[in-house]
Amino acid sequence: MDFNLSEEHRMVQKMVHDFAQREVAPIIKEWDRKQDMAPFILPRMGELGILGICIPVRYGGAGMDYVSLGLACEELEAVDTTLRVVMSVHTGLCSMTLLQWGSEEQKQKFLVPLAKGEKIGCGAFTEPGAGSDFAHIRGSARREGDYYILNGEKMWISLANKADYAMVTMRTNPNAEKASRGLTSFIVDLHSPGVTRGDIHGKLGVRAGSTGWIHFQDVRVPAENRIGEEGEGFKITMSAFDNGRYTVAAGATGLIRAALEESVKYARERQAFGSPIAQHQLIQAKIARMAVDYEAARLLYLQAGWMKNAGSRNTRQTSAAKWFATDASFEAASEAVQIHGGYGFSDEYNVERYLRNSKGAVIYEGSNEIQRLIQASYALGWRTDKPLRRELPPYDPDFWQEEA
Ligand SMILES: Cc1cc2nc3c(=O)[nH]c(=O)nc-3n(C[C@H](O)[C@H](O)[C@H](O)COP(=O)(O)OP(=O)(O)OC[C@H]3O[C@@H](n4cnc5c(N)ncnc54)[C@H](O)[C@@H]3O)c2cc1C
Repeated sequence: MDFNLSEEHRMVQKMVHDFAQREVAPIIKEWDRKQDMAPFILPRMGELGILGICIPVRYGGAGMDYVSLGLACEELEAVDTTLRVVMSVHTGLCSMTLLQWGSEEQKQKFLVPLAKGEKIGCGAFTEPGAGSDFAHIRGSARREGDYYILNGEKMWISLANKADYAMVTMRTNPNAEKASRGLTSFIVDLHSPGVTRGDIHGKLGVRAGSTGWIHFQDVRVPAENRIGEEGEGFKITMSAFDNGRYTVAAGATGLIRAALEESVKYARERQAFGSPIAQHQLIQAKIARMAVDYEAARLLYLQAGWMKNAGSRNTRQTSAAKWFATDASFEAASEAVQIHGGYGFSDEYNVERYLRNSKGAVIYEGSNEIQRLIQASYALGWRTDKPLRRELPPYDPDFWQEEA
């Protein structure tokens, strides 16, 4: 077993680290206060190849592996969660779903511009009335000749107001014997007539990002934009989450690291009772917890990334990585605020932003209650992975790096 990163992995890490630390860290507080996304972020991430990092070169991507995607997410969220959220939805939920389930024509038409960063994607699944209970969404798609007519509302959608394309799942069969079998997925051009959308304001965290709603009113979507078969939408959405959750796990690992680094720095400087607070054992206990949680979270996401590279189903491992890393990042951010005392309570330091940002990941991409249920059902033997009609393709450097 080799725990070393390759030369390519270290190059990705450094490139993303430099972008996040040099270009975003100096301006992030200002945009977080404004509750808006800095306009240069998406084009710059596209220009650097970050948006298509694990997509084959022939489909417009950078041709790196799935571990590189995780490493990039760790570096991005070590600066701000909003950067990693872009990867979760653009790359994880949208592009990787096209890579796994899309036809060759759909890849050429939609995946190529997404991977190049010429178009922005999102994943629109949650509705005002159904998040965890996704099988019971109400948005509908009705077949009419060569089109589907989409109606419904999607809520809490990251990049709703910035994206060009959305991976959308709607109900096509209201009479299916199981609700989950009546769903179908589509790649939808959000500039189509009948689409209206907007941002949600007043969020607790990810304020320098974009989270919104999308309303579909008789939106005509060409039948060739259907992803997979009718009735496969639930499975397709769950495999989108296998990829989205991976990015969330890796990103939360970066947030633990950032909370740890800032806590160590502050604890060495701040004096109380005649010594730096780092000398007090209760402070050391908090730092020790963060340090070990960082290592464990990192190993869990790297395991999931390694399994993706190998083409092994990783729903269980990815869910565990997401649950562990996001709970640990919320705890690390909270303890980092505590270590900073009163100063931690103001935005003079970054740690209050980490705390606000870390809460979202405990809720989205399957809340951590849902991850517990997934883990319990595997452990109790109630759940096993059945092969999918289309699996995420294993990483093959020859295929990934060859021009079309
Ligand atoms: C910042 C942010 C960004 C998001 N981005 C996206 C996005 O890009 N695309 C998208 O489709 N969605 C997105 N979401 C939505 C997110 O995935 C949902 O909020 C999440 O799945 C929970 O659904 P819900 O809000 O409807 O809560 P509910 O499902 O109503 O759950 C409420 C509470 O009940 C708990 N609960 C529910 N069922 C059970 C159960 N069986 N057992 C125990 N507890 C249970 C939940 O864990 C939660 O604590 C985003 C959300 C946020 C906050």
